[in-house]
Amino acid sequence: MKAGISPNCSYVWRSICWGRELLAGGLRWNVGDGNLISVMHDKWIPGCGAWKAEENESVSENLMVSELLTDDKKWDVARLQTLFPHFVVKLPPKVLHFAWRALHDMIAISENMRCHHVPTTHICYWCGKVRGTTTHGLIWCDLVREEWKTTKFWADICNFKNLRLMDLCLLIKDKRGEEGVEKWFFLLWMTWKFLCEVKYGKNEKWERLNLDFGQSMFTSYHSARQQVLVEAQLLPKEGARNWYPPPKEMLRVDVDVAFREDGLTSGMGFVVRNFQGKIIFAGCQTIGCTATVLMGELHALMLAVGHCLENDTSPIVVFTDSLLATHVLSD
Ligand SMILES: [Zn+2]
Repeated sequence: MKAGISPNCSYVWRSICWGRELLAGGLRWNVGDGNLISVMHDKWIPGCGAWKAEENESVSENLMVSELLTDDKKWDVARLQTLFPHFVVKLPPKVLHFAWRALHDMIAISENMRCHHVPTTHICYWCGKVRGTTTHGLIWCDLVREEWKTTKFWADICNFKNLRLMDLCLLIKDKRGEEGVEKWFFLLWMTWKFLCEVKYGKNEKWERLNLDFGQSMFTSYHSARQQVLVEAQLLPKEGARNWYPPPKEMLRVDVDVAFREDGLTSGMGFVVRNFQGKIIFAGCQTIGCTATVLMGELHALMLAVGHCLENDTSPIVVFTDSLLATHVLSD
């Protein structure tokens, strides 16, 4: 890979060398013992846009990937965490996905598209004035900047126009903690949705970016998540993976039906729990030869609901895996 071109070498050799440059541009390291891979200079990180580590003052220029591995060739997680900034953000999957792409300059903004060899101008689509970088589009562009000024984040970032999104993110994390970063990403995601709507959409409701609305959306998301966390802690741990509690004043009814293989008998059962996961009633019955699952589920529901009506005045929520049964009930 290192042979050179001499002034009198053949046309074929020149072509081979030209092809080698092209090849080198696309080569990535597959980490084995990591002895030959430079942490900062080589392309070795799968899933990261450029396959290279982000600029990072705390990492030595000479650090080799082998130094990030333990003796038994596993990643030295503690070392990685001290060298590379990391934090945990909890956001809806689509916002997380957006955040990851934005941090790696992989959202469809002119400058990023040019880096990925999409033939387009490098000027911002929305204002048509300057280079359309990730941070320009999401924060500094004429179309969105005024709205960002209304948020508390403006004071944190307004003097750092040249920083990359990753650095702005670290800045916000230092000032406002992980929850601040979560909120900031939520607003960036709203901004991106707005920009896409302006570019591709025909929807009238996006006349202007409204980050105030974004903040209240985030607040409701956050408090709903806290609520689920609190309630999940109250649940029985065993087998409760898909179980979530009813609202506090209600009871949750679960019913199910099982058939014997010979098809001659079937059985049904029900469990009624409160918001803490505590069982209030439970029952089961053999129901002979039931014609269909629907009949079985309805039979079980009737029994369970009857029990609830007789013994408790709380409203109930019913869970069944028969979609038909819920249709029959709600009709
Ligand atoms: Zn712009």
